Amino acid sequence: MAELIEPGTVWLVGAGPGDPDLLTRKAERLIMAADIVFHDALVGPGVLDLIPDTVERVSVGKRSGRHSKDQLSINDLIVAAALSGKRVVRLKGGDPSIFGRSAEEREACDAHGIPVQICPGITTASAAAASAGISLTLRGLARKLTFVTAHARAGEALDLDWDALADPQATLAIYMGRSVAQEISTRLQASGLPSSTPVLVVENASLSTERIVRTRLDLLALAIPPKSGGPTIMLV
Ligand code: SAH
Repeated sequence: MAELIEPGTVWLVGAGPGDPDLLTRKAERLIMAADIVFHDALVGPGVLDLIPDTVERVSVGKRSGRHSKDQLSINDLIVAAALSGKRVVRLKGGDPSIFGRSAEEREACDAHGIPVQICPGITTASAAAASAGISLTLRGLARKLTFVTAHARAGEALDLDWDALADPQATLAIYMGRSVAQEISTRLQASGLPSSTPVLVVENASLSTERIVRTRLDLLALAIPPKSGGPTIMLV
């Protein structure tokens, strides 16, 4: 039987939102079968605890505004490990295909002929909705679900199509928006969303430190936890 991870190959693995019980069984098996795991800062501590002591563990955490290895050096580390014949797991918070820069890591591997496979994970929006007991879509009311990142490159303004986002029939799952909550609130209202539009702010979704705030669009910025807090998602 073929090994779950062939030596010299890479798996991009979704770690889910943080709670280790929200890891897929496949992700857990991949972690067990790896020689080396490169992980993000957003991978939950309970998930990291599942990595066996015999598996090399490398943090390549990038949280905006904090220390980081830039994406190119992460790509280089992954490529070098695979070229040396290791079984490589690249563990990413949530789902690797959602704001995870997995395409860049895949391209770097492709350029060296390194096979890459992907194991999906539960994305934060799903976990946040579940914690709050809500549905991301609502028959007749929210027919569309938009995943959007409000992350701007350093020094650049947010470049989003606010008129398109301010769709009263859509749920917006806003990732990486904490520092620009006021701008999100102002712009969505300016584009026509009612000030009373319900917004859910979830910090540290699925972790024991989870914090859920139910608010409305015009009060959004007041609901954002202080900067020292954990990762935060907004559902509008
Ligand atoms: N691939 C990830 C998203 C990575 S982008 C996924 O599918 O969920 C990083 C952003 O995700 C953070 O800035 C934050 O907005 C959100 N995020 C990640 N984990 C989170 C958590 N446990 N609770 C709340 N937001 C989270």
